[in-house]
Amino acid sequence: MTAYSRAKYQAAGHDGALIDESGSLFIKPTNDQEIEFYTKINELERSTDYNKDKQDDDDDDGMKLIDWIPNFMGILEKGITNEIKEKQVISEEYTKEFSNNKDNNEKYLVLENLLHGFKSPSIIDIKLGSILTDEFATKEKKLRLQKISDSTTSGNLSFRVCGMKLVHKENEEENNLNLLINSYPNISNLKQFITIGEDNYISFNKFYGRGLNISTIVNNFQIFFKYNKLSTSQQQKIIRNTFTRLQLLYNCLLEKEIRIISGSLLLVYENDLDRWNEFDNHDPIFRDYYEINDDDDDDDDDDEHDQKQAPLSLLSMIDFAHSKIVPGKGYDENIIKGVENLMNLIETMIDE
Ligand code: ADP
Ligand code: MN
Repeated sequence: MTAYSRAKYQAAGHDGALIDESGSLFIKPTNDQEIEFYTKINELERSTDYNKDKQDDDDDDGMKLIDWIPNFMGILEKGITNEIKEKQVISEEYTKEFSNNKDNNEKYLVLENLLHGFKSPSIIDIKLGSILTDEFATKEKKLRLQKISDSTTSGNLSFRVCGMKLVHKENEEENNLNLLINSYPNISNLKQFITIGEDNYISFNKFYGRGLNISTIVNNFQIFFKYNKLSTSQQQKIIRNTFTRLQLLYNCLLEKEIRIISGSLLLVYENDLDRWNEFDNHDPIFRDYYEINDDDDDDDDDDEHDQKQAPLSLLSMIDFAHSKIVPGKGYDENIIKGVENLMNLIETMIDE
C-alpha cells in the first residue's frame, strides 16, 4: 500500500492535498470541471495534429498552456478516498465544503508536485482576475466575491496575493521579524496576519493579501523576493526570470481561448545555497529544462535519469476548478490583465 502524507508547503487554498511517498506527486481534491480542463488541454496540446507544424521550432517555447501548468498524471477515485478518510487527513472544513458541492465525486487530481526537489522553497499564491465567479456561482457568492474584489487589488490590478510562505531567517539579528515589520510600516497590521510555524516558515494569510493596496503591493514583492539569505544578484536573477516567464505566459494566453476563474499563479524559489551552487547559479526559464536535457549527462545510474531536477525558481498557473475551454471566443481578458499588471510591477524591481 502506498503511503501519503499531507502537503506541507501550501501557500494558500484548502487543506487536504497530499504528497506521495516519492514526493514527486501532488494529489488534490478536485471537481469534474478541473479534471475536464486538465484532460482537454493535455489531449489538445499533446496531439500530433496540434504539434505537427511546430516541431523543432524554438520560438514556440512557452506557447503551450501545458508549459505553464503542472504535469497532469491522472485521477484517483473512491478507493483511495476511503483510505485517506480513515486516516483523517482531510480537514472537516474541506469535507463539509466538498460534500455541499454538487460536482463532488470525491475525486483526486494527481499532478506533478511543483515543489519536488526544492530543499527550502519560498512560495506565493497570486489569484488572477477581477471577476472571481462564473455563471455557476450562487447570487450570494457572486455578491460576496465581488465585494472582496472591489476592496482589494483584485479590483484594480486584476491580481491579489492569496498567501505566502517564506523561510524565516533565524539565527541572524534577533528581531529579524520585527525588522521586517518595521521596514514596511505602510502595510498596516502586518504582524497580525503572519505566523511562524514549527518548520520555521513565516506564513502570510489571505487577510494579509486582502489588506494590500495599489501602493503597498510592491512592498509585498520586495518581501517575497528579498526576505532571504540569497545574494542581491541571485535575487535579481529570480526577479528577471519571473519577468521573462510572465512575458512568455502573457503571449501564450493571448492565443488561448479559455476562461479561468479564480485560478492562481504560483511562484517558487529556492533558498538553499547549496542547490544554487550545485547549478552554478543557472536558473532555467522553463522548469522541465533539466528533464529534457538529461541526455547530456553521462551518468550511468538509471535512477539519476528518472530523477527530475528542480529548477531554482519557477512560475506556474494552478487551480482550474472553475476553468473551461471556449473555442471561438477569444482570449481571457480577465486573467490577462492580471498577468500584464504583475509583469509591469515586477519589471520595476529589475535593477539595471
Ligand atoms: P484550492 O485553492 O482549490 O485549495 P489549489 O490548486 O489552488 O487548490 O492549491 C492550493 C495550494 O496548494 C496552492 O496555493 C499551492 O501552494 C499548492 N499547490 C497547488 N498545486 C500544486 C502542485 N502541483 N505542486 C505543488 N503545490 C501545489
Ligand atoms: Mn487556489
